[in-house]
Amino acid sequence: MKLLAGLALLAVTLLLAGCAAPTTAVPPPAPVSAPTEGDTGLMEFQGSWQPQLLYLLGRPHARLYVEVAAVAGCEPRDSTLKKLREFLATYCEKPDGIEIVRRPVISRKAARGLTPHGLARQFLAGPPATAGSAPAYMPVLYYDSALATEPLSATPGRSAAPARHPPQDEHPHTDTLPYPAIYMNVRYGFAKSVPDEMLLHEAGHMLGLVSRHDFAAGHHCMDANCLMNRTLRVSLNRTFMGLHPTRQIQLCGRCMQELVNSLKLPSPRNLYYAGPVLVRTERDYAVLALPQRVKVLLGGVTAQDCQDFTAAVQAERPGPGDQELRVLCSVKTELIQDPARVTEAISQAEADPLACVRTVATRLRLKWEERRREPANTEIKGVLSTEAMKEAGVRVAPFTGVKENGGGGGS
Ligand SMILES: [Zn+2]
Ligand SMILES: [Zn+2]
Repeated sequence: MKLLAGLALLAVTLLLAGCAAPTTAVPPPAPVSAPTEGDTGLMEFQGSWQPQLLYLLGRPHARLYVEVAAVAGCEPRDSTLKKLREFLATYCEKPDGIEIVRRPVISRKAARGLTPHGLARQFLAGPPATAGSAPAYMPVLYYDSALATEPLSATPGRSAAPARHPPQDEHPHTDTLPYPAIYMNVRYGFAKSVPDEMLLHEAGHMLGLVSRHDFAAGHHCMDANCLMNRTLRVSLNRTFMGLHPTRQIQLCGRCMQELVNSLKLPSPRNLYYAGPVLVRTERDYAVLALPQRVKVLLGGVTAQDCQDFTAAVQAERPGPGDQELRVLCSVKTELIQDPARVTEAISQAEADPLACVRTVATRLRLKWEERRREPANTEIKGVLSTEAMKEAGVRVAPFTGVKENGGGGGS
């Protein structure tokens, strides 16, 4: 709960905006100015949750596959993606290469009524299955938040239901929990003035910046000239002088050093990508994640389990509640034959660092105990409801800002 409590408490002022977004499971962010409880919670969780190392280190994934999906009119320039490649190539040890692939453009009609997470689930496919080693996977979505509030358009397999979503937070942002992804909203006012830096800032979050405590607050660097500062300052004076609109075009020494330090860490032993699915394995269970969708699987996890999870998520019909975190928990058939192991696995999941996993595991335990009294009932699944999600949902949305600075001799 501690983890949840602060996740949406992000610093916002009228002049600041950027990579923050409130989780949809909690109220809109309140203005705060200090590191939040959520930051602390994330730090505590990092022992078993360091997806950034999958991007930074050469193992377990020697390759990085960056997939970029964009709604029509929101597409990033080639030069922006080139800068992203250079940035990643500078800091990520990927001996088998870094591939940046654009998905076919998403029509604005198809995007109507869909939240960023809904778009990501439907249009980001994950790396293709190839004979080579499985890559780490970094999804990037460019979208227009104005389309999310429009009614769903009728398409084959989808009715024109008036599934309006409330206006979404418009800051470009990076999710870390439950599933790492970059969401770039081009509707956001400042996104066009420094598009390269906005994307690189989010990529910095994907690489784990800023996690240190020294000269940092709320996942951001306190160096005003650093790309990872909470505020990207845009100066009209600089523009008039023919200079780049912002000075913050690269990482400061502290942030670079933080990445260098991360490169010395051991490879994650319990995290890996299977296609687009991020898998975290614990002793007797696994946690599978896609955008705002989590599946807790008691028993071993296989490639087929990941494919089935992906297929189920991609087959979802868009509608109200798209933005909510949904968590499913189930027991693998082979484990059911061993009730003692099921009980043990549930107990372990009830002690998971992630609140929503603990909650859904408890629901499963109640069903499991019920089933043992009535053996005829073989359906053992726990699903976290929307209400329970409000208590247990988790998401990290580090915050950055872009500050319009029209005067003052540049900043
Ligand atoms: Zn910095
Ligand atoms: Zn940020």
